[in-house]
Amino acid sequence: MNTIADNIKAIENQLSQGVRLVAVSKFHPVEMVRQAYDAGQRIFGENHVQELVAKAPQLPDDIQWHMIGHLQTNKVRMLMPHVDMIQSVDSIKLLRTIEKEAARIDRTVDVLLQLHVAREETKTGFATGELLSALSVGELDNIPHVRVRGLMAMATNTDDQQQIEREFQLVNDTFRLIKDEFYAGHDEFDQISMGMSDDWPLAVKHGATLVRVGSAIFGPRQYK
Ligand SMILES: *Cc1c(COP(=O)(O)O)cnc(C)c1O
Repeated sequence: MNTIADNIKAIENQLSQGVRLVAVSKFHPVEMVRQAYDAGQRIFGENHVQELVAKAPQLPDDIQWHMIGHLQTNKVRMLMPHVDMIQSVDSIKLLRTIEKEAARIDRTVDVLLQLHVAREETKTGFATGELLSALSVGELDNIPHVRVRGLMAMATNTDDQQQIEREFQLVNDTFRLIKDEFYAGHDEFDQISMGMSDDWPLAVKHGATLVRVGSAIFGPRQYK
């Protein structure tokens, strides 16, 4: 059986330069995160606030924790001391809350804007038009404690590779459009987070700079 270290090494060997691996450790115990850490992994993704907040203090300080799941505004305060990047910003209200809570503890936090491109209605995120109009009317202005680093997205859960590739390319096109229109000259707007265990090579092909991989590193999750 492959170890966590083997799995990380295998993925790292295939990643292009400039693409970073987010190890998605949700539902996996601290000991498994530690094994990944010992193999050199430093970026970890969680999708529940309680789980991230419980794990972070038990693990080394140089881990970068990324929040990748839907985030409720009333959990932002609890999350803020522990998180390095919030990838799952899916509303202006959430963005404003993040600004307020980051300011309250005098820090700056990186975020990605989550774009809804999948066919499933259950997946959260901004519709493209909604995000573009929010940007146009200045709803993302005046957030000095937030650094908008780019976009995050999830493809439809399907075996249709062409569908997945179309969605990833759409994210890439939207990233470029937003960069040119609203973040030209902002070097920090440079990240596209997309791709999971089954589709990360396709995501990289279409411009991902962060891939979020869980089961291909840690094995199947045990949902309790
Ligand atoms: C769980 C999760 C992943 C990782 O999924 P795997 O299929 O286990 O690689 C990636 N992104 C998000 C948002 C997730 O919730």
